[in-house]
Amino acid sequence: MNLVDIGANLAHDSFDADRDAVIERAHQAGVQAMVVTGSDADSNAAAVELAEHNPALSATAGLHPHQAESWSVRLSAQITDFAARRCIVAVGETGLDYFRDLSPRRAQAKAFEAQLAIASTYQLPVFLHQREAHADFTAILKNAIHELPAAVVHCFTGDREALETYLALGCHIGVTGWICDERRGRPVFDLLADIPSDRLMLETDCPYLLPRNLKPKPDSRRNEPAYLPVVAQTAANARHQSVEELAEQATANATAFFALAEGG
Ligand SMILES: [Zn+2]
Repeated sequence: MNLVDIGANLAHDSFDADRDAVIERAHQAGVQAMVVTGSDADSNAAAVELAEHNPALSATAGLHPHQAESWSVRLSAQITDFAARRCIVAVGETGLDYFRDLSPRRAQAKAFEAQLAIASTYQLPVFLHQREAHADFTAILKNAIHELPAAVVHCFTGDREALETYLALGCHIGVTGWICDERRGRPVFDLLADIPSDRLMLETDCPYLLPRNLKPKPDSRRNEPAYLPVVAQTAANARHQSVEELAEQATANATAFFALAEGG
């Protein structure tokens, strides 16, 4: 198998002690390429640093809605500067999160709109986060989507209506280990067969979202890219197709979406 993890928070400090070993285990497990998620000034810089020194890694640069209140001229300049670099393959993660509501909604909208504008200027795809904010998120995205080369709704956890809206807008759908949770992940598992095969991509969102069906579970409960095959197998089960077929399609989608070097 040759997989791409399109959402790996490898800049997270939980990987500080053994990051090289984590990347090596990913390769051993068939995860050849990883897109390191940037979510604030520090993780953007760390993601760029990682991606510039490892050909298997590329990165995104953005501001997560949880931190939207820290949007500033300086951060905008950082993301704009990074957007021009080769290793940056998307703007984000950005979007709206009304589930946690950690930043005021007005600040979330402002940071989201500004990042969509940067992506448009640099003709980069966007890596999007949406939780419990479907209507406002869609309204903002609709205004910008036609100027963007591509968009992925990462860690999709929505319902059928949300899925259909995103597909109609031309979005790709990022699927995580959320679907491996037989309780809260069941509704998304049941929708997986309705995602067109050319729109589906796979991600761990590590260190978060350790697949619940992973056996044995690591003592640390930390998720890592080496567990992406578990997500791929669960998605293949939901779609009644072989994991090999699904992996090939998802990898082709990710390679094209992020313009990754073939076989990288
Ligand atoms: Zn997210």
